[in-house]
This record gives sequence, C-alpha cells and structure tokens, in this order.
Amino acid sequence: MKEKKDAVKELKEKLFLNRKNGYRLINEDEENMISVFAEDYRRFLDTAKTEREAVCEAVRILESNGFTEYRKGMELKAGDRIYRNNRGKAVVTAVIGTAPIDEGVRLCAAHIDSPRLDLKQNPLYEDNELALFKTHYYGGIKKYQWTAIPLSLHGVIVKADGDTVTVNIGEDDNDPIFCVTDLLPHLATEQMNRNATKIIRGEDLNILIGSVPFKDDESGEAVKLNIMHILFEKYGITESDFISAELEAVPAFRSRDLGFDRSLIGGYGHDDRCCAFPALMATVNCQNPVHTAVTVLTDKEETGSDGNTGLCSAYLNYFIEDIAEALGSDGRTVLSASECLSADVNAAFDPTFAEVNERYNCAYVNKGVCITKYTGARGKAGTSDASAEFAGRIRRLMDRENVIWQTGELGKVDEGGGGTVAAYIANLNVDTIDMGVPVLSMHAPFEVISKLDLYMAYKAFSVFISD
Ligand code: MN
Ligand code: MN
Repeated sequence: MKEKKDAVKELKEKLFLNRKNGYRLINEDEENMISVFAEDYRRFLDTAKTEREAVCEAVRILESNGFTEYRKGMELKAGDRIYRNNRGKAVVTAVIGTAPIDEGVRLCAAHIDSPRLDLKQNPLYEDNELALFKTHYYGGIKKYQWTAIPLSLHGVIVKADGDTVTVNIGEDDNDPIFCVTDLLPHLATEQMNRNATKIIRGEDLNILIGSVPFKDDESGEAVKLNIMHILFEKYGITESDFISAELEAVPAFRSRDLGFDRSLIGGYGHDDRCCAFPALMATVNCQNPVHTAVTVLTDKEETGSDGNTGLCSAYLNYFIEDIAEALGSDGRTVLSASECLSADVNAAFDPTFAEVNERYNCAYVNKGVCITKYTGARGKAGTSDASAEFAGRIRRLMDRENVIWQTGELGKVDEGGGGTVAAYIANLNVDTIDMGVPVLSMHAPFEVISKLDLYMAYKAFSVFISD
C-alpha cells in the first residue's frame, strides 16, 4: 500500500507542474546573497527616484566599473565595456562578446521612469493666501492614493540664459517636504459618493508649497511673491523659467524592509527599478561574454514609450547599428539574430484582491522571477507574444542555471491588462519575452516586492546575457 502511494507521489512530481515557495528551494548561501543584493538595491532605489537620477547613478556605477562613453566610429573589440547616455534620461550599455556580432546580442530592457506627479509649465499660484503648484500626473495612477503623503521635488530648470539648475528637495531629513491635501471625512459626504476615478480629480492634485506673505506687500499674491522670492534666492529663477523645467513630485519616504521576517521591500518605484537595477548589475558583473551583452534602461514606458527617450524612438536601434558597423556587420543582421528579455514587473497575487486573478496563471510572491509569454488586453491586443521556441529556450536556460522562476499573466482575461516595451523590441525582429519581479500594490506610491524574487531576476538576467 505504502509502495503504491510513493509511486503515485513520484508520478505526480514527474508529470505535474508544481511551483514551490522559493524559500523551500534555496540554501543558506543563497539566502545571504538575497539579503546583500536587497541592501544594494535599496540604496539605488533611494538615490535614483526619477529617470534622470537613475541615469546619473547608472553612469556612476558603470564608469567605476570600467565602462566608457561610446561614440559612433570608435573601434571595438571583445571585452570592451561601453555605454551611451541618451539625453540624461535613458542609457544603453554593452559588453562586447567573443562571438561574431552577426550571431546577435543578448539584450535586457528595463524602464527607469515611474508614475508620479509632474508640475505643469505654469504651476505656481496663490489661492486664499496659500501657495500651490498645479500638476499633471504621469503614468497610470489611482489619484486618491497621492494625497496626504509626503512628497519631494526632483528635476531640472533651464533658465532664460540657458543655465540648468538641478532640483532635489525633500529627501534630506532637514529639507522641507510638500503634499497634496485631502478633504476631511467630516465634510466628505459628497466626495465619498463619487466614482473612485473622481474622488480626487486630476485638477485636485495641487501641491501645497507655502503660506507666508511677503513682508511689506499689502497687494494681492503676497504669498506667491514670497515663494518666488525664496526660489529666486535659492535657484536664481523667475516664474517664466518653469516653462523650460521638468519638475517631478515623488513620495519623499525611503524604502524599508517589510514584514517581521524582513523578506519584503516596501518603497516607491519598484516598477521598474526592481528590474532595471538587476539588469544593470548583471551587465556590470558580466565578464567576457560569448554574445555581446546589451542592457537598455529606458524612459517613458509609463506613458506608452513615445518620445526620443522612450523605446519607440530609434535610439536603441542606432546604438546597435553603431556597434554592428564597428564590428564589421550591420544593424538589421545583428537585430534579426538577437534575443531580448523585456525586464518589467508583473502583478503579484494578492489574497485580498484574489478575484482579479486567475489562480492557475498568475505570479506569486516568493515563487521567483516571472516569465510572461504575452501581455496585452482584450484578446492579447498590443502584445508581441513570444514564440514557443523562444519560451522553450529561456525555460531550459533558467532550469539549467537553477534560477527559481514562475509564469504568470496580468490578471484574468478581460479584467484589464497592460503592456511593456516587449512589443517595440520584438518589432525590430528580435526574439523577445517578458521577465520580471511580481509586485504588490503596483503603481501605488508605496509598492511591495520580495527580496527572493528580486535576486532571482538578477540571477536570470546574468545567466541570459552571458549565455
Ligand atoms: Mn513597468
Ligand atoms: Mn508600470
């Protein structure tokens, strides 16, 4: 009887798909590596809250690891470590491989922009002796989540004379912070009966920035004048300089270990820096790859990838063309033979909101990096849908290298959906599949991921680019 039971158990193990919690599969060494990697990641998260800051930090890390800026026409040979900075908002890096470039590159593509509140071009106004900034939100947010939380301000202001001022205020403990106010529950009867998309409307996302009137000014707008006076003293700017500024309000808090067991990380902008940082570190730690390893950290994914720093732009294509030519080939030959991991997050199953997921096909916290064959919505619209052959190649590679991985799609069919940059890279005739970290509370000011899943993303990207 016992023998029969064992045989059945064995048969089930052989024939059924069974994804275990990753903590049941790792040893102590790997557990330590998970914690160390999480510490490095949290530092990156807290230093690089915007696409511009992520590029600055990435370039600093790249240069201190022997990467140099590449210009078209420079000679290249195996082992060379190069990068190109696209307008301070996106960066492409490469480690040149030993194989002929005609065999294609191994590409990892992640994005470094996250949902936030952008200041409008004429943001400053005074209303009833309070000074405020008008904003236009960036990316898909639940607007009500962005009220009554501390905000910091990041970005650049290009002054009338062409000088650029960098702004980063609200991150240091001694800095002031800002916030969008919300209505007290006592007076919110009408507000609470509105549809959730209108509880806070787009034009309600006004950031409170001051309340003191300028001395000696009895005329109107004395508070606004006082704020402008402070900004002139600090940055040398006048009101018209906002027209040529990019100022982004993001949550002012830092990332934190989450849970009694410290297994999770809570913080702003995991989407998609929890894939961008592992992809960057995989490149940095990549020594003498066979195929040329390319990593792109791109901007504008959250608004649809348009614009010259998003992946619908030709900048990635041009970079590949330039290195192809330097190595005696051409862009189309290289791209057609290339493979890409579109390194972006997926939704993690949340027991509180179980009904939006189809439990046989969704990603779970701690079950490893998630492979997503296709994205899209309503009949896979907008997806590139990786081929069975390429999905097969990637799962073989992951299993061979003991990467803990799972598969999942974004929610139930027709529940909603979403896309990544995968389609834009696949459109260049590159074999592309999505792979990334499952996230709880995605696009909220405070998102949550698992340290184990984060580390498995790093391991997956590392083995892919050096294979
Ligand atoms: Mn994303
Ligand atoms: Mn996103």
